[in-house]
Order: sequence, then C-alpha cells, then structure tokens
Amino acid sequence: MLTIALSKGRILKEILPLLAKVGIEAAEDPFESRKLILPTNLDDVQLLIVRATDVPTFVQFGSADIGIVGKDTLIEHGGDGLAELLDLGIAACRLAVAAPVGFEHNPSSRLKVATKYTRSAENYYASLGQQIDLVKLYGSMEIAPLTGLADVIVDLVDTGSTLKANNLVEGEKIYDISSRLIANAASLRTKYAQIAQITDQLEPIVNAVDAA
Ligand code: AMP
Repeated sequence: MLTIALSKGRILKEILPLLAKVGIEAAEDPFESRKLILPTNLDDVQLLIVRATDVPTFVQFGSADIGIVGKDTLIEHGGDGLAELLDLGIAACRLAVAAPVGFEHNPSSRLKVATKYTRSAENYYASLGQQIDLVKLYGSMEIAPLTGLADVIVDLVDTGSTLKANNLVEGEKIYDISSRLIANAASLRTKYAQIAQITDQLEPIVNAVDAA
C-alpha cells in the first residue's frame, strides 16, 4: 500500500487534477468526506488528509510514504528523514516581509517580527546580520503591526489583497514558494518503483504547465 499525505485547502484543490492525470482518484470527494483516510480507485494507493503543517511529520515517521507540502512548511519542519522529489509548481506564492504603510525601522531598537514562519524569518534576518525579537503566531498575522504586537510580519503573499485590506505594504521577498512532492527516506528505498512511477509521470505534466 502506498499512502499519500495531503492537506485540505489550496494545495488539495490544485493537486487532485494532477493526481487524476497520473491515474489516482479519490474514491470520495475529499472536500465533502469526513474520512481522514480515503481509498482511491487503485487498491494499493490511499490518501491521508492531515493539516498542512503535519504533512512532513506524517511522511518523516513513515505513516505516509509520500506527501504534498508547501516549501514554506517544509522549511519550518526542517526536512529530517524526508526527500524532496519534485517542485510541483502549484499553490505558488511568496514569503515576504510586510509593514504598515510608512513604517520606518529605528535602527537603535530591535525589530519586532510576528510570524508563523519562525525558522525562515530567523534565517532571513540572520543573513542580514540583523537581530530581531520574534513573536510566534499561528494566524491573523496582519493584526500584529496594527495592534502594536510587532513592527512587521513575515507571511505568505499571493495577490497582495490581504495585506492591502489591512493597510500593510509588501517589503522584501524572502523566498518564492510552491508545493513539493516529498517522500519518506525509507519508503523511497522499499517502494522505489511505485514512487518513481508517480514522480516520473508527474514531472512532464508539471513542466508542461510551467512552460505554458
Ligand atoms: P493574498 O491576499 O492573495 O495575497 O493571499 C494572502 C493570504 O492567503 C495570506 O493569509 C496567506 O497566508 C494565504 N496564502 C496565500 N498563498 C498561499 C499558499 N500558496 N498557501 C497557503 N496560504 C496562502
């Protein structure tokens, strides 16, 4: 049995058509079903529906053999026990700094940064040689500068409309983000043929979309 870990939301919406193109279809609509382990049209493939931030953990410890996860989540997890097989090019966005309109950092004080992406933010500001105070949040980060909890935020930006609606402006880009196909390191050896087949089938499809 090959188990694929997926998360609901943006990534699931974009990955289902790609999986269908390589012949894997959920037996029930994952958006409607309350089942967290979903059979597919293939007897030897099942889907595990988990939280986005938990996808790397389920794959790392072998509860799932492969998974689909945003690069942002993968960086925060750290990647232990995982192999990154393919950039799927889906759920594309960027991780960026955002600040209130007109904000200027006073260099004599430490910058207060609110984010869910603490590892990425730490690495980014360390690369600039800038010391910061980090505030870990799990959502609604846009509120942090508006309420004085932080000076700036580090968050995912796609169209920029969420920032605009909260009077924030996008600053430096930290990374371009997209979803990745990851595999458990042991599964990659023991189920190599099955995993390689899916990867090899997905790769030209993804590249064709990129080139379009
Ligand atoms: P936007 O208003 O289009 O810039 O989208 C920004 C909001 O959507 C933020 O709350 C982000 O955390 C979230 N977001 C944007 N792109 C993604 C993505 N690819 N994956 C997960 N969340 C995203």
